[in-house]
Amino acid sequence: MPLTLLWALLALLTLAGAGGCSRAPQAPETSEADPVDLGPTTAAQVAKAKAEMKERLAEAPPAPPPSAPAISEPVAGKPRAPKDGEQVCFVCEAKGEVPCSAPRCNAGYRPCPGPCFKRHEGTWAPYPGQPGVMARAVRTPDRKTYYISEGHAGEVWVFEGGALVSKGLCPTCKGHRAVACKSCKSSGKQECPVCRGEGAIPAAWTPEDNPWFNRQPDLVRLKDGRVFLGAESGGDELLVMWKTRAGEIITVPRTEVAQWPKNP
Ligand SMILES: [Zn+2]
Ligand SMILES: [Zn+2]
Ligand SMILES: [Zn+2]
Repeated sequence: MPLTLLWALLALLTLAGAGGCSRAPQAPETSEADPVDLGPTTAAQVAKAKAEMKERLAEAPPAPPPSAPAISEPVAGKPRAPKDGEQVCFVCEAKGEVPCSAPRCNAGYRPCPGPCFKRHEGTWAPYPGQPGVMARAVRTPDRKTYYISEGHAGEVWVFEGGALVSKGLCPTCKGHRAVACKSCKSSGKQECPVCRGEGAIPAAWTPEDNPWFNRQPDLVRLKDGRVFLGAESGGDELLVMWKTRAGEIITVPRTEVAQWPKNP
């Protein structure tokens, strides 16, 4: 019996030891112990930087990115059922709203325009000495390479006093790497431009013939009945080449164009 107990104790100790020594490979988000390879600096500087980093991380932990979009409210009024002589809006399918069309708006947020360190930007390389951990490799003007682990995304790093240093969370995005889209008030939605949020439109409207579509300055109609939104992108005295909003290239004889864009 005492022997069994001893073995159990040994096993426990081994487990505890293994747990304590193993370095978790998912260090980036939580790597407070070893946040940055300070490269060519003295041991004292490293210790000081680490202490500062720890202090700063403790007082201002980076907030998680805004992954979940804000709950969206219908933008204007409530979509209603079609009455006699109406149909369900074919653009928003009766919802009254469509995804926000502001440039780079993704579910109500757009990438921070500030100088913060962002994932998916710059050159990435394995973090030296930490297998499985990726870090952003930054080449400084003194031709040294620093590695910043991705847990520092949202911070502003500058080359100062001969070293790459963190100036803390980005003042523009507070470390979120994204900012709320003003166009949609971070809802990610906007009022449907065709039904103006009502969800229902006159039965006679078609996707290629309705007040909103007909107002578009880049509307092109061809004599063969084709209709698209696009811009002239080449051609000669006989042919004209169009690039549609969807990215398609359409080449037709100039004489075949029934309606030219208002803003060529
Ligand atoms: Zn609509
Ligand atoms: Zn930022
Ligand atoms: Zn938006």
